[in-house]
Amino acid sequence: MRTPFFAGNWKMFKTVAEATAFANAFVEDVRGVDGVDLVLAPPFTAIHALAGATQGSRVAVASQDVYWEKEGAFTGEVSAGMLVEAGARYAIVGHSERRRLFGDSDAWVNRKARAAMSAGLVPIVCIGETLEEREAGQTFDVLDRQITAGLDGFAGSEVAGLVLAYEPVWAIGTGRNATPEQAGEAHAHIRQRLRQWFGAEAAEGCRVLYGGSVKADNIAALRGQPDVDGALVGGASLDPKSFAAIVRNGR
Ligand code: PEP
Repeated sequence: MRTPFFAGNWKMFKTVAEATAFANAFVEDVRGVDGVDLVLAPPFTAIHALAGATQGSRVAVASQDVYWEKEGAFTGEVSAGMLVEAGARYAIVGHSERRRLFGDSDAWVNRKARAAMSAGLVPIVCIGETLEEREAGQTFDVLDRQITAGLDGFAGSEVAGLVLAYEPVWAIGTGRNATPEQAGEAHAHIRQRLRQWFGAEAAEGCRVLYGGSVKADNIAALRGQPDVDGALVGGASLDPKSFAAIVRNGR
């Protein structure tokens, strides 16, 4: 049985003070909610404070990105070791906004995921097709490319321990979520590829999240699909009550 997993991606929202206030409310809201992994991904600046504010709770902290070098002349970048020291336990890599706006390629996603795992962070690797790719019937090809390139060199036992997030780009921040059937079909495909390429341990252990306009009123239907292990939530994770309702309805 895979433990359900819910992560909030705050993107470029929330100051240190706002992140701390969120944590204080959210930890209370999910008190007594057992058997789930809960993760919040604030901007880099709030990681340390949020790790402190959630210490001793079931809520862990993720970065929204990571750079693969350990240190050096890489202005603006943050290494995996630095994130661990700041209190992060997970690192999102390959989010579609990173791919689209900042040029993250599949090869970069691979290096970032590897660096994260080597430093002891659990990578949350995002994959997903654009609307154009879906309409051209290329969804599975895109997912296959992103999985093979993004996880190149990973052993089955490593894939078992990481998290994949299927996020159709056309559903992110648009209010237009994939139907449960669309999500279920993509997740079943991903699971089958994990089994084929990385073995049974990887297929059975790896949590595959759905992301894209998840809300408290659509999460239960999405989670009704057997291969949807939880959600990566953007907009609806910015309010503690709204994110806690997603966790309660979706666990
Ligand atoms: C995301 O940022 O990963 C995301 C899924 O955003 P939203 O929930 O707002 O669509």
